Parts: sequence; structure tokens; C-alpha cells
Amino acid sequence: MTSVVLEEIPDRITLALEISNCQGNCVGCHSPFLREDVGEELTPAVLDALIADNFGVNCLLLLGEGNDPAALLSLARWLRERHPRLERALYSGRTAVPEKDIWDLFDFVKVGPYKAECGPLNQRTTNQRLYYHGEDITARFWHRGIDPARQD
Ligand code: SF4
Repeated sequence: MTSVVLEEIPDRITLALEISNCQGNCVGCHSPFLREDVGEELTPAVLDALIADNFGVNCLLLLGEGNDPAALLSLARWLRERHPRLERALYSGRTAVPEKDIWDLFDFVKVGPYKAECGPLNQRTTNQRLYYHGEDITARFWHRGIDPARQD
């Protein structure tokens, strides 16, 4: 599913794309179907069409990493070259994201699985973190009252 969102990435008009084949195992997962191999393959042609249909967005957010790390990086490189005015964002449900390529290719990286007892990004108790070029900007969700709809 795709949607244009204002809450997930601060100060950006973001085109958010749900990525299936999730390898996470969050208790209370809000979208169990994303653990399956569902939906349309996210090819450059598909992305081109989505971006053209959503003129005015300035950020593209992948909600999940899927199960093919090489394909994820390849897509991010293509986005950087083909759509340089779009910032790139990735929501990872992993506890840590050690791959340097991910930090180089994505402007925003969200780290951490959803834990109900800690709450989502807009709660100070959250275990999740949102980074912008390596800087932890999670506190911006607390100061501005942003309420991300997605918790993974
Ligand atoms: S990362 Fe999201 S889709 Fe994957 S298991 Fe966690 S809540 Fe579910």
C-alpha cells in the first residue's frame, strides 16, 4: 500500500510505501500480512510511476526492508541517481542497523522494533530512534506533538 503522509518524517511531504517480506517478529504486529510475499514488485518503473502520480512529495519512505538487502540498496542507489530531489527514508524494525551502505544511501533511518510497553516514536519511553544523516532526531516527535500513524 502507498500513501502520502506528513507525520512519519518531520517537515517532509512523504510518499510512504509498505514493503512486504518483513523479517521482523514484533509482538502485536499491526500488519501481519507484510510478513508474507504479497503485493507488486517495487521496480524502478513502478517507482517512477508512483513518484509521477504524487507530484509535490519531497521524501520517499520505505516502511520495512523486505528480505533482499542487495535489492534494497540497489533501489536506494537508483532513487538517488534518478530522483535526487527526493530524500530517502527507511523504517527498519531491527534493533541495530550496522550496514554503512544503508546510512549512506538513506537520509532518514528509523531503528528499533515496535515494543508496546515502550510505545511508538512520539512517546519519550520509546525504544525506537529516528536518525537524520546519523543524528538522532527522535525528540522532535516529542516537542512537536507529531503522532506517527505507523509504529513499526
Ligand atoms: S516490523 Fe512491522 S510488519 Fe514487521 S513484524 Fe514488526 S510490526 Fe510487523
